[in-house]
Amino acid sequence: MLNVEGLKIRYGEVEAVRRVDLTVGEGEIVALVGANGAGKSSTLGAIAGLVPAAAGKVVLDGADVTGLAPETIARRGVALVPEGRRIFSSLSVAENLRLGGAMHLPAPDMQAREEEMLDLFPILRRYHQIKGGNLSGGEQQMLAIARALMSKPRLILLDEPSLGLAPQIIDTVFDLIADLRRKGLTVLLVEQNVALALEIADRATVLSNGEVALAGTARELATSDLVRQAYLGA
Ligand code: ATP
Repeated sequence: MLNVEGLKIRYGEVEAVRRVDLTVGEGEIVALVGANGAGKSSTLGAIAGLVPAAAGKVVLDGADVTGLAPETIARRGVALVPEGRRIFSSLSVAENLRLGGAMHLPAPDMQAREEEMLDLFPILRRYHQIKGGNLSGGEQQMLAIARALMSKPRLILLDEPSLGLAPQIIDTVFDLIADLRRKGLTVLLVEQNVALALEIADRATVLSNGEVALAGTARELATSDLVRQAYLGA
């Protein structure tokens, strides 16, 4: 479904991503892990069309989408849940959801999709009219994911969904991500919690200083010496 080939990203003089190659097959969860500043968020940004690529390609369903506008890439079935969630705090849960669908869904489909999201995330039904800013961190993360799903994406890009959440809430969020795969969604997951990411992912890529340090199945990576020493505290 997604191929990232020789991606390079620069912010002025800073080369944030030197060379990233990455493949995500339909129905997979692929984890992108690595230390702070390794280039994970920048890579997601380039896939979503938010960050320009200095070199390389992003190929979606066989078509080169490098440099296309974010709305165009979204229309082709890609949704990003950004780091820090960025929901609208002063808008209600319902309004946040509708904004997620507004650009992509015909008005008559909006309500049905919202109902699907409220079935998938019962907590959002309970807090339907509550302002986003009054939800807990875990609830805001659910809302951010639900909002992204409103556009009926086929590929969802999740940036650090565990960030700042209590362990028990993290489990809930990750169970949900596994559910999304069962429903046929494809997931590219950026995560600093490597142990957690490898539990849920089919395959993973480790980035270090803007380059791929290691890639393989989640099982291969979980038993590799490099990953165990650098990321799993073994
Ligand atoms: P984190 O988990 O901390 O977000 P990351 O692996 O997602 O890390 P990126 O956020 O992609 O890494 O950042 C990669 C490098 O690019 C870092 O050195 C960062 O400081 C730099 N960088 C990111 N965004 C910008 C920007 N808008 N302008 C300048 N430099 C940036």
